[in-house]
Amino acid sequence: MLGDINEWPATTLDWKGFGKAIDDNAMPKKKKYNVNGDSGIKAQIQFADQKQEFNKRPTKISRRSLSRSISQSSTDSYSSAASYTDSSDDETSPRDKQQKNSKGSSDFCVKNIKQAEFGRREIEIAEQEMPALMALRKRAQGEKPLAGAKIVGCTHITAQTAVLMETLGALGAQCRWAACNIYSTLNEVAAALAESGFPVFAWKGESEDDFWWCIDRCVNVEGWQPNMILDDGGDLTHWIYKKYPNMFKKIKGIVEESVTGVHRLYQLSKAGKLCVPAMNVNDSVTKQKFDNLYCCRESILDGLKRTTDMMFGGKQVVVCGYGEVGKGCCAALKAMGSIVYVTEIDPICALQACMDGFRLVKLNEVIRQVDIVITCTGNKNVVTREHLDRMKNSCIVCNMGHSNTEIDVASLRTPELTWERVRSQVDHVIWPDGKRIVLLAEGRLLNLSCSTVPTFVLSITATTQALALIELYNAPEGRYKQDVYLLPKKMDEYVASLHLPTFDAHLTELTDEQAKYLGLNKNGPFKPNYYRY
Ligand code: NAD
Repeated sequence: MLGDINEWPATTLDWKGFGKAIDDNAMPKKKKYNVNGDSGIKAQIQFADQKQEFNKRPTKISRRSLSRSISQSSTDSYSSAASYTDSSDDETSPRDKQQKNSKGSSDFCVKNIKQAEFGRREIEIAEQEMPALMALRKRAQGEKPLAGAKIVGCTHITAQTAVLMETLGALGAQCRWAACNIYSTLNEVAAALAESGFPVFAWKGESEDDFWWCIDRCVNVEGWQPNMILDDGGDLTHWIYKKYPNMFKKIKGIVEESVTGVHRLYQLSKAGKLCVPAMNVNDSVTKQKFDNLYCCRESILDGLKRTTDMMFGGKQVVVCGYGEVGKGCCAALKAMGSIVYVTEIDPICALQACMDGFRLVKLNEVIRQVDIVITCTGNKNVVTREHLDRMKNSCIVCNMGHSNTEIDVASLRTPELTWERVRSQVDHVIWPDGKRIVLLAEGRLLNLSCSTVPTFVLSITATTQALALIELYNAPEGRYKQDVYLLPKKMDEYVASLHLPTFDAHLTELTDEQAKYLGLNKNGPFKPNYYRY
């Protein structure tokens, strides 16, 4: 049965009855990847065309002052690195150090290999909240679905990624890894991975030059060529396209996690330039539900609390947008005793808000009275300067939606307003009459900027990535063409089922009669692709 962790989903290792799931695997609507394609996502994409020479090394100072462009290319995916601190005050660049792990290997580049023990503890903590990967490992004792796989990865390097990498290793893969973000690497974890034999090239605070150098060290290796790519943001894929296009002859597929990276893949596909199959794991149902609804339901409170120490009971809050993120925010705030108003443009979501007991209003109607304004629309300029002018003193303004476009922060950069940084990620913007609003994270995503992402959420993503790699690696010739696919529904269901034992949840099995009546296979998929969860 599906919920049995001792069984791979039929789609993964035995291929019967699989064709339909693939055929139905429609590409997600284009709109989804077009959100501000002109000014938002695209503006953040920085390609590395000129970065093949690594001999022009930046100085220490220039390393520190280099732009944030690279990290931005990948901020649409999660790391739980927001609160990580760098325990090393060693200023020497890891590239200038000679380091070896205890087995004598020097095929890695991390900040300090001696931190491995601390990193191992972090990894062990993460393992507790990543039950599905641990279940896959258990399963792997008998089977190695990734035997022969040579995976090159570029993701946030955190304890959760380490659990994923070690799982891929247990499933038979060889991995080489770089960081997708110059700030998010947890040095101790990178050291622990290097110590246990993973060629990891990453440290917190890389320069732009370091960033591409690390990626290159993963790819450009004598006697080793990747046959799978796991990317987050598309930089690794782009690097291989630009520098080593011949490598694609051996590559069986790309698995991409982030909105930005998926957007790039669809662009490549549209231009007829995608030369291997790619799996968009960002839009798997399970991952979407966790990222948008459940994660935001928890992290809205965490982000507000950490930045403002506020109490939620009795506060008047307006949430703009009642999609998945908005629903999560509203549910959490309502449960804390806040009085919640909702704005919507879509009558269906608006009606849902009404049925859930929220007052549907126009922003103008409540803007003078609310204590907190939260945007979750994926839209731009939802909160304008006019709204900001009318807010009451001490009103908190933050964004849980798209990038930094939802609140017109630029309109607050005028001479008559004074900005006062009161804490990290907290600005008071003060009007000439003394009124001040509290702007969080300068209008960027509150939870990603000011709180951490629960490991369980990352477990869903990591499991989806692992299964997508297994699927692409094992797929028989012709199943996947040079296009972008979603994870087959049945495997999405399998990701969910692997997380059920954590809750001692008992799934009901269809009887033969019921399965026949509903026209379903007893092992799933249980819903058509158009089903809305
Ligand atoms: P969604 O499409 O389900 O919901 C957005 C809602 O906003 C829609 O119902 C839409 O009708 C409404 N809307 C659009 N313009 C509006 C306006 N001017 N006023 C009021 N309502 C308006 O999308 P979602 O899954 O809820 O995601 C929303 C945004 O949050 C996206 O940009 C997404 O990328 C982002 N997101 C953030 C996080 C996070 O951790 N903070 C997680 C996932 C997604």
